[in-house]
Amino acid sequence: MSRRFAGLQGLALAAGVAAITVACATNPATGKKEFNLMSEAQEVALGKESDPQIRQEMGVVNDPELQRYVDGIGRRLASATERPQLPWSFAIVDAPAVNAFAVPGGFVYVTRGILGHLNSEAELAGVLGHEIAHVTARHSAAQYSKQTAGSLGLLLGQIFVPELRPFGQAAEAGLGLLFLKFGRDDELQADELGAGYATAQGWDPRGVASMLETLGRLDEGSDRKGVPNWMSTHPMPADRVARLDARVAALRAQAGGRELAVNRAAYLDRIDGLMFGDNPREGVLRGNAFLHPDLGFRMTFPEGWQVQNTPQQVVAQPQGGGGYVFLQLVQQPQGASLRDVAAADLGQTGLQYLEGGETRVNGLPAFIATFRGQLQDQGEVVLRAAWIAHAQKVFRVAGLASAANAQAIARAVDGTVRSFEPLSRGEAERIRPNVITLQTAQAGDTWERLASGPGRGLVPARTLAVINGYTLQEPPRAGERIKIVVEQR
Ligand SMILES: [Zn+2]
Repeated sequence: MSRRFAGLQGLALAAGVAAITVACATNPATGKKEFNLMSEAQEVALGKESDPQIRQEMGVVNDPELQRYVDGIGRRLASATERPQLPWSFAIVDAPAVNAFAVPGGFVYVTRGILGHLNSEAELAGVLGHEIAHVTARHSAAQYSKQTAGSLGLLLGQIFVPELRPFGQAAEAGLGLLFLKFGRDDELQADELGAGYATAQGWDPRGVASMLETLGRLDEGSDRKGVPNWMSTHPMPADRVARLDARVAALRAQAGGRELAVNRAAYLDRIDGLMFGDNPREGVLRGNAFLHPDLGFRMTFPEGWQVQNTPQQVVAQPQGGGGYVFLQLVQQPQGASLRDVAAADLGQTGLQYLEGGETRVNGLPAFIATFRGQLQDQGEVVLRAAWIAHAQKVFRVAGLASAANAQAIARAVDGTVRSFEPLSRGEAERIRPNVITLQTAQAGDTWERLASGPGRGLVPARTLAVINGYTLQEPPRAGERIKIVVEQR
C-alpha cells in the first residue's frame, strides 16, 4: 500500500480501444497480410493513454541515470526496427517481480526485478528487443483487439464499489491487459526479431539466449504486488532456446568480423546498489505483520492468514476463504468526524449501518461499526470496519464475509484493529530495503556460502545463483564479479 491513490484508473486502459475499426493491413515486421482491428494511430493513442496510468499505478524507479541508460538502449534498438517512427519509450517500473511488457504504440517497461536478474547489456538488449518485437509485429495490438471484443464490456461492468472487491479483481483485470499471454509462435518470433534488432545495433545476440536461460530458471508465479513473472506471461517451450540457437549463429555469421558487444562489467556497474525485493516505501510484511515506515504504523493480521500487499490495499484472507480483511487509506474531508468519513466512504455501497461507535485504538481515535447488505454476485454480506485516524490520515480496516460468517469476520477485524499502532521513528528507520552489490568470487566459493554468514541470508542460495546466471550446482568462477544481496546501509 502506498500513498498513491491510483485506485482503479487502470481500467481506463481498456477505454482507449473503444473505437475499433477492422482493417486488413500488412504486418510491418513480418510482411504478412493480416486482419488487425487496430490502426497505427489507435495503437499510439492507446499507448499514450496507458503510459501515465501504468507509471502511476506501478510507480517508476527513482534513478534518472538508470532510466536514461535503459531508455537509451531501447531507443537505439527501436531505431533499427521496421517501425522507427513510433513514439518509443522505455521505463523501469518499481516492481520486484521479474517481468517486461509492452503496450501498443511503442511503450515498453522492464521491472526493477528483471534488471536484477540480468548480467550484461547484451541480455538487457535481448529483453528490450523481445518486447520491441511484440510491438513491431503487432502481437499485442492483435491480442488487445481479440480481448477487448469479448471482455471489455464485462470489465467495465465490474467497476462497482471497487473498494469492496477483494484483491481488486477489477484492477487486476485492467492491469491484466498488460500481461497478455502470447502464443508459442509469437514468442519464438519475438525472440528471433529481438535478436536481429540487438545484432543490428552491435550487441551480441547470444544475450537473448542467456537471458532466456536465466528467466527459464525462475519459478512460475508472481510477486506479492500481483505483478506476474515473465515465466507466467511468456510460455517457455523447451525448444525455445534451441530454436533460437540457429538464428543466433546466423546473425553472428552475418556480422562477419564485426565485434559484438556484451558489456558485462558496464551493466553490472549500472545496477550496483539497485533495490532487490520489496520496496519498504510500499510497506513490508514481516510474517503477518504489515509495517509501513513512511506512514508510520504497524498492524498484524490474524495468525495463519494469507496477506497480500498491493499498491491499492493490503488484503488478508484465511486459508480456505470465508471472508477477508483489507486495509486502505481513505479520504478525510476537512473537519469531518470519523463517523462522517465512514458514512461518506460507504455511502455508495448501499450497505446498511447496523451499529457502531467511537473508540480509541492504542491511543488513536477510531470509529468501528457493522454494516449489512446485498452485494452483486455475493448475496447477503456483513461488513465490519474501523476507521482509524493517525498522522493526519484515515485508515480503514474492513472485513467482509457472508452473513453466515459474520461473527468470525467481526472477531478477525476487531483483533486486527487492536493491533494497529504507531511505529516509532527508530523502528521505521530500521526497515531498510535489500540491494544488489558486487563482489569478486573467490576460489572455493559456493552459492550456499555466499548466501549465508553475517549480513547475508536475505535471499536463498538458489536465488543468488539464478540472478548471476548460474544453477545452484555450478559454483561461481573465481575472480568473476558477482552480485550479492545485502541490506541497504
Ligand atoms: Zn514475449
